[in-house]
Amino acid sequence: MLQQTQVKTVIPYFNNFTKKYKTLKHLSKSNEKEILKMWEGLGYYRRAKNLLKCSQQLVNNYKFKLPKTLKEIKKLPGVGEYTGNALLGLVYDMPTIAIDGNVKRVFSRYLNKEIAKINFEKLILKNKEKLFSTNRNADFVEALMEFGALICKPKDPNCINCCLNKSCKYFKSNRKIKNPGKKMIKDKNYDIYCYINKKRQIALTKKNQIGFLKNCNLPTIKESDNSAKNKNWKFLTKYKNSISNLKLNINLYYKFSNKIPATHNWHSLNNNKEFIPSFTKKIFKQVSILF
Ligand code: SF4
Repeated sequence: MLQQTQVKTVIPYFNNFTKKYKTLKHLSKSNEKEILKMWEGLGYYRRAKNLLKCSQQLVNNYKFKLPKTLKEIKKLPGVGEYTGNALLGLVYDMPTIAIDGNVKRVFSRYLNKEIAKINFEKLILKNKEKLFSTNRNADFVEALMEFGALICKPKDPNCINCCLNKSCKYFKSNRKIKNPGKKMIKDKNYDIYCYINKKRQIALTKKNQIGFLKNCNLPTIKESDNSAKNKNWKFLTKYKNSISNLKLNINLYYKFSNKIPATHNWHSLNNNKEFIPSFTKKIFKQVSILF
């Protein structure tokens, strides 16, 4: 849940989730519809789907136990190098490091060397005696993440109070390295076409080509062109919606119609029972103005 999402946003979701699914078995017996509803509003819905699949594989193929090697653990849905290493360290106390952006930054600053010029795998291997001299590997994995988030922060590292400042090359250097900031935000223009009817229903489809919301219920959405003008769509409004590193400029069009494409299904604008991503809920809000 915490991937790309702030702790304060996650807390209520985490509490509800762990209250509902008390054990791995409970989780594995759930279904995609239910899990997505629990996840609604948190975004990055692939995480929820993978979590469900992962629990089912652990129950069915691994006798409820996480595998103990990186190779095997990475076979689980949604588990890559970073999550695999974090799990092996946190769950089995193995000597691993989960290398995310924070951890890369800490090493890069400590060595005063650009992230792009460091081979992290080699670096860890070369220094494994020193790095894993503790027998508290689980704490070490966690501590490195926290250290990057709280002390060696992206902006204004707290060097004066840092326990590494005596040996840190960044702290001592007059020519401190700089790593490039976050990925540039990309501006994209989309047109959204909403079929609506007098029963306060909107036609949605899961067949869309929008990578960040693939297989989610949406009206027809396309990168902006002039087709709206040609097909008698009425312009409703324009607004902005940011997702990940994308800034979307959206033009919203509508048409009252009882006929919809075969790929679409009618959904009530008032229905709260079904999973609807926040992106689509914003569309609901705009369209509701028409009633
Ligand atoms: S001294 Fe400063 S730059 Fe070096 S590791 Fe500590 S917080 Fe980071």
